[in-house]
Amino acid sequence: MVGLVFVLGPIENYERLPLSCRQPIKLDIKAVKPWLRYSFDRLWGTSADGERFAYYVERGEPTVMQFEHLENEFFASSLQKVNVDRTESIVRFCERYGFPVSSGYNGAQRLSLFRSRFKLFNTDFQPLKSEWDILASESASAAGIPLFSSAYSEDDKTLLGRRPYFLSEEARRIHLNDRSVVGAISEAEVIQTIRALQVSTALITAVAYGLENTDTWGANEVADYLCDRSHMAQNGISFFLLSNTDTLLKNTRLKSYDTLILESSEFKSIVQQGENAGFNTRESYTSTLADGLVIASNTAISFLANSLLSYRFDGTGGTPDEAEDDNGGPLAAWSHARKKTHRRPASTHSYGCLSEAIISQFGLLYDDPAEWRICDNCGRIFKKYREEKPGKVIQKTRFCKRSCANSYSKKKSQGLITE
Ligand SMILES: [Zn+2]
Repeated sequence: MVGLVFVLGPIENYERLPLSCRQPIKLDIKAVKPWLRYSFDRLWGTSADGERFAYYVERGEPTVMQFEHLENEFFASSLQKVNVDRTESIVRFCERYGFPVSSGYNGAQRLSLFRSRFKLFNTDFQPLKSEWDILASESASAAGIPLFSSAYSEDDKTLLGRRPYFLSEEARRIHLNDRSVVGAISEAEVIQTIRALQVSTALITAVAYGLENTDTWGANEVADYLCDRSHMAQNGISFFLLSNTDTLLKNTRLKSYDTLILESSEFKSIVQQGENAGFNTRESYTSTLADGLVIASNTAISFLANSLLSYRFDGTGGTPDEAEDDNGGPLAAWSHARKKTHRRPASTHSYGCLSEAIISQFGLLYDDPAEWRICDNCGRIFKKYREEKPGKVIQKTRFCKRSCANSYSKKKSQGLITE
């Protein structure tokens, strides 16, 4: 993208992101488990309550995917490039990396349980039959409900909530006894997961940059950055502006004052009323926006932290308990032997999932002491040069990747840029 220039200069005090609103939330990163990728078909089914829906069925033998298969800063490249409005784009992504399963309702465990329903010592898979069943399974999981239902705007309704999980379970119900199918997942669940990861990682990154550069990057810069489709493929970040929504931010999708004046007649009329009553509407709105962005970013980080817990949650409920009362004697020996059996990794649980790997990679980068930077060519916020190999640190690069460095020097040689 050419010509995206951030004019650096002092910003007004009311635009500054409030450091005090930031909550220190830690992403607990553990060794990333490999995950399975299958060939798949896209099918249409009808749910028990009559909805036609698209879903994917896995077939054949899996390819084992490793953490190293994700390029550096995956969340800002391949992940952000997925256009969830286009089936081909979703399919291409899943063919290459596998399915991003949801962290809600034990999504990862439900899929792996379903995959092993015909195995020796098969697991007894019973599809969850309603959104109420799913609610019960969520409260039993480690993460609880990652995305609250209170603040969905109209256009988010189809993509949020528990409906996608229900549809995945419906796809599993349809193929329960079908031996040609390994796993099944609804397209709605895949889309919801991709969206949540696109939005959360872009939002956290932009706010983190703003908090490190409070003199030059305020609420407007963060909001405008997130409206740029090349930085975040989503339409707005209302996804994570949930429980504590300030009335001023209602229906604004956290856009900047100037963008809203241009786009929204509703906003314009509220501003007019405020101005007539003698308020400084720009200042009031922008300072509220600054708070809202940091709060939304906190929610997004908790979402990622909870997702990691959920992906690691063992749905069988059996956690090895070393502190169990062992008083010696034959019973203790039996109990010891049983614990050893339980600790042997069951084939169903020895794999992780793509979404866990993406969040873990993001978490490692987030914790990295390197500072966030803005690419001089494409304007993207980044920490690591994309082609950087482990153990080889490229410190002061101004570009996020090789192609950006090349395209910048080309523009310069053509006289399009002067320094
Ligand atoms: Zn770049």
